[in-house]
Amino acid sequence: MSTYPKNFLLLIEYLKKLPGVGKRSAERFAFEILNWDPSSLSSFGSLLKDLPSKLTNCENCGCLIEKNANCDFCSSARNQNLLCIIASPKDAFAIDQTNAYNGLYHVLGNLISPLEGKSAEALNLEKLIKRIHSSEIKEIILALDSTLEGDATSLYINEHLKKNHIKVSKLALGLPIGSNLEYIDPSTLSQALVGRQSF
Ligand SMILES: [Zn+2]
Repeated sequence: MSTYPKNFLLLIEYLKKLPGVGKRSAERFAFEILNWDPSSLSSFGSLLKDLPSKLTNCENCGCLIEKNANCDFCSSARNQNLLCIIASPKDAFAIDQTNAYNGLYHVLGNLISPLEGKSAEALNLEKLIKRIHSSEIKEIILALDSTLEGDATSLYINEHLKKNHIKVSKLALGLPIGSNLEYIDPSTLSQALVGRQSF
């Protein structure tokens, strides 16, 4: 029985790190990539190599931006009274694409997950509260995944912000239980935003 050459195996191992990509798919992708012409392979390689020096997370909101560029998500053209709390930078793009929201964002980066040993400290809520108090933010919208971790985190943040006399809303019911924000179609997400209710 012959095995793949070592460098080909390495490629497969990297591809397997992608969500939803198992061994069979990774092998298929690896053979496909081998068919690319050398200049495409080289451009792809340098693109990957340069990502850390080209992209960053905005220091203020945590959204994904081009390095050394102004953050569109913190732009003064946005409604400065609304702040949407999201788990990951990708959620800001999903919510913006609905065209139902024009406020600011705050990326948590973590959710409370007892199974993975992530407690409330991982949320760094002090930074959030400081930001709220030093701004014109009047309403906080919690837009976390409808999963065990997302719900636990929403409950915790709501309690914490209530103690600080900050008004909190959450997305309207209708989001499928167990759903990740990124997989919800834009019209459902848009309805959930427009119909948001106080927590
Ligand atoms: Zn920003």
